[in-house]
Amino acid sequence: MKIKVKVWVDEGCIGCGLCEEICPEVFEADETASVNEENIEGNEDAIAEAAAECPVEVIIMIESDFDLIIDDDEDEVEEESVIEEDEL
Ligand code: SF4
Repeated sequence: MKIKVKVWVDEGCIGCGLCEEICPEVFEADETASVNEENIEGNEDAIAEAAAECPVEVIIMIESDFDLIIDDDEDEVEEESVIEEDEL
């Protein structure tokens, strides 16, 4: 079973830039921070540190064997199973 790490920045980011200082491979901070999802793998420890140090605690990091699809309009979270390539 493949465990995927999902990272996002919730509402309330104050754009302080600390996450980018800690993990520039993943975070880019301007007025608010954004996440480069392509670089999450291999940077989990630094992401966890950034999440712990964020002054407003808006960095969310979860490990899951599900893909989470967040629909902002409906404020709902749907789950979708991850299908391994060898299962296809
Ligand atoms: S450390 Fe937190 S508040 Fe600061 S830019 Fe990053 S996400 Fe935003």
